[in-house]
Amino acid sequence: MVKSKSILWLVLLLGVVCLVSTGHAAEREPGLEARLDEAFGLSLVSREPQALPLILRELDTQIPSATYARVRAYQALALAIQDHAVDEALAMLAGTLNQPAVADSPHAQAELLLARGEIYLHAQKREDMRELLAELQALNTDEARVQFHQLHLIGRGYDLLHNHERALHYLLQAHEVVMTLQDDKLQHRRQFINLHVGRTHARLRHFERARQTLDNTIEEAYRYGIPDRLPELYMVRGFVIQVTEGHTDVAESDFLKATTPPPGEPVGRTQMLAFNNLGTLNLHRENFEVAEQYFIEGIRIGRQIGNSYELHIMRFNQGYVMVKQGNYEQGFPIMEAAFADFSQLAPAGIQADMLNYLADAYQTAGMVERALSIVRQQLQLREASYQAERERSLAELQVRYDTQEASLRIQLLEQESALRDARIADQQRNQRWVMLLSAVLFIALAFALFGARYVRTLNRQLSAANQELTELSNRDPLTQLYNRRALSTFPEQPGDLVILFDLDQFKQINDSFGHDVGDLVLKSVSARLTDILRAEDLLIRWGGEEFLLVVRRLDAKGLDTVKEKIRAAIVHSPAEGVHVNASGGAVMIKAPTDTWQAAIERADALLYQAKENGRAQVWLELDGEPQVWHLSDAETERGSSRPY
Ligand code: GH3
Ligand code: MG
Ligand code: MG
Repeated sequence: MVKSKSILWLVLLLGVVCLVSTGHAAEREPGLEARLDEAFGLSLVSREPQALPLILRELDTQIPSATYARVRAYQALALAIQDHAVDEALAMLAGTLNQPAVADSPHAQAELLLARGEIYLHAQKREDMRELLAELQALNTDEARVQFHQLHLIGRGYDLLHNHERALHYLLQAHEVVMTLQDDKLQHRRQFINLHVGRTHARLRHFERARQTLDNTIEEAYRYGIPDRLPELYMVRGFVIQVTEGHTDVAESDFLKATTPPPGEPVGRTQMLAFNNLGTLNLHRENFEVAEQYFIEGIRIGRQIGNSYELHIMRFNQGYVMVKQGNYEQGFPIMEAAFADFSQLAPAGIQADMLNYLADAYQTAGMVERALSIVRQQLQLREASYQAERERSLAELQVRYDTQEASLRIQLLEQESALRDARIADQQRNQRWVMLLSAVLFIALAFALFGARYVRTLNRQLSAANQELTELSNRDPLTQLYNRRALSTFPEQPGDLVILFDLDQFKQINDSFGHDVGDLVLKSVSARLTDILRAEDLLIRWGGEEFLLVVRRLDAKGLDTVKEKIRAAIVHSPAEGVHVNASGGAVMIKAPTDTWQAAIERADALLYQAKENGRAQVWLELDGEPQVWHLSDAETERGSSRPY
């Protein structure tokens, strides 16, 4: 800051040195320059109507380029400000810029550039001004007067763009340059710059500093006898008082003083604004009729001077006052139309502020729905304003950001590479895990397969063993025939002949030949009976010397065969040298509901009958009365019950 300031001073000193030296002799004509200073001073338009036409009459090609350009600039400003011919004025500046002598002269170009800026400001051309600011900032002049103009023009340009911080920054720079200009316009320049500084402080809501600057400048205006800016100074001070102290008489008095133009000057923008402010002040005091008259006067001046921005505000205000007086039919259309025009020119935030009054007006009229929709519109505008403000702030931060961005980018790159390394390490770790897991899975699978096979084998072995056990448990160890338990594993079927045998007088056999022979006899009889049976028939050792024979699906024809076979197996020839005979009871399973148990009980009863009836016989019950079926030979049947 210190460095840039000292450079600035150096530049200024050089400028002053150059100015007093003969450096610009080639580009400026001193006599004419002095007449221009006299006629215009700090004004854009001369107070003497004939001053410019007289100078223009002397203008010829011999005049140095910078002075020539300065005269043309005043000519263009007169066109824009006095004749309201803004486009024509701009075209004139462009035409002058293209003239060969001017194109070669930086000083001439500077004059035209400043005039263009003044016209943009006057016509409130924000976008054009925004673009021009870059050119104005790039302007590198060695002339203090031009530099002063350059700086306050930039300041006022930023003010137009509602960037008041920057505006103040440039205005204060211009203030410093003023002191280097040792001419008789010093107090005029100070007044001019202090007015803008005071106004900008007010816009930045630095009300105390604004008030101080304005009070001093008003006091100096009287002291030095310079009334030029008094209306503007009063207007701004009235505003500051109104904001800080309310809608007081003091504020109103300042606004009233601002409604009179400086001596010799026509009514202008300041007077228009003063009337608007008076209207607003009275609106707040609810002096609606008075307020409306002030707005009407302001609108009249606005139309006269070709202002549009503030004109729409005043039209809007007039409509508002009408609504406040109950004149909805006229008031609302005026407000709506004025807002529509204003919204073409104003930034979103200011539009949103204005809508407060429109919403309030509709609410006053009881049109709540419309008021609500306006509040919603306001919200959207606030959002847009916030975005725009954010973008502007971002632009301000861009330079700081650019520097930070580089280091952040490096940081991010480092982070990225660290992350990449971490990812690679992670991948490797994952790969290791995958391999380990694969190995574990493989082993587990192998075990599972092996285990499954092992279990299957084991199961097979077990089931074989079980089968064997079952088999063993169902068999009689001596004869290897099925035992009683086995019977339950076979289902009953109609057509089964159930015969229960009991060997006759077996105790005697044991007694006569010994128990071992008795066993052999049992085995032998079992084997013989087994031989006569078909595969599907059953032979069970029912008890000691009792046998149960089940002949499956026996038909009438087969019965005789069965009788013969049984006789052959038991009695036909001695078993182990011992004659054996038997008694039995036989019944037929007839229905699916007949059970082994029922059949055997009946057979046992028949067996008892057979024993009682003389042994060596089978009592057979098929239908009705039991039939007796003798097992012995004829002579035995005849009565020999003791063949031994
Ligand atoms: P019956 O039936 O004709 O009235 O006379 P029984 O002598 O056969 O009568 P009982 O049923 O009272 O006797 C059966 C005998 O069979 C008694 C028993 O010692 C004998 N016995 C039972 N089981 C076996 C065995 O497994 N081996 C031997 N050797 N004898 C047995
Ligand atoms: Mg017995
Ligand atoms: Mg017996």
